[in-house]
Amino acid sequence: MATHARPTPIGLSPAQLRNRMIVSARRIITEHWPRVDRCPMCGCGWPCTPTVYAYDYLTKVGQGGWAPPEHRGRR
Ligand SMILES: [Zn+2]
Repeated sequence: MATHARPTPIGLSPAQLRNRMIVSARRIITEHWPRVDRCPMCGCGWPCTPTVYAYDYLTKVGQGGWAPPEHRGRR
């Protein structure tokens, strides 16, 4: 891991910021993952708004097909 002698004003490099966004997007998707065809957090049909935004971001960074590991390929 690289050390940064001069951090950016916001304290994160663009790559770190991007990675942090990916992690939080994945966490949102995991928390809002549908149990029985609906979001357990919002109680509405899936995908709910937070999930849509999270997937919108992941798609932009080329990870639109991401799914929570514990749910992948399981029924
Ligand atoms: Zn939700």
